[in-house]
Amino acid sequence: VTEYKLVVLGSSGVGKTALTIRWVWSKSYNFSEEYDPTIQPESYLRRMEFDENHYHLRILDTPGLVSDDFKQVYKETIETAHGFLLVADSTAATTFNDLILLREEILRVKNTEKVPIVLLLNKCDLEGNRVVTREQGKTLASQWGGCTFFETSARKNVNMDEVLRTLVLEIEGK
Ligand code: GDP
Repeated sequence: VTEYKLVVLGSSGVGKTALTIRWVWSKSYNFSEEYDPTIQPESYLRRMEFDENHYHLRILDTPGLVSDDFKQVYKETIETAHGFLLVADSTAATTFNDLILLREEILRVKNTEKVPIVLLLNKCDLEGNRVVTREQGKTLASQWGGCTFFETSARKNVNMDEVLRTLVLEIEGK
């Protein structure tokens, strides 16, 4: 079994907890409309099997901080993580811009340009409220040097496992 530590980052309310719950309990979970802000980072185990490999993905859901506290709280988490899921809300433009700073912080802590990251534009089910386009997502991801972009919906269960598989392959340099 290969174990990887993955960290979910993004501003408050983008759906980090909802996504994490889907990744971990996708089959049995009833989507909740309630908003319960995460206070402490919480870690969940997702077992996954593909290409005849077994993975234990330790997924860390984090509170949405983009501030000075961020550096203190996440330094060790970022240092030891193998991959990152950077999440924005397609209906809130600021959450998309926040990812730029988050990524810079990750690169600074990791002290390298080569960090496995996937860029997620969540809540793609809310098409009528969309303010960040698919094109903007793709463009930012390509500016990040081959980072993969996904539109996701924790609510409708869109692209959940594809995201994890892509990040694992990225971590393994495939
Ligand atoms: P977090 O602060 O990033 O962890 O965000 P949450 O997971 O707590 O979600 C914030 C709010 O957005 C909650 O009301 C969720 O029900 C809602 N939400 C999360 N993901 C989706 C999604 O894919 N589609 C829709 N329509 N709502 C979502």
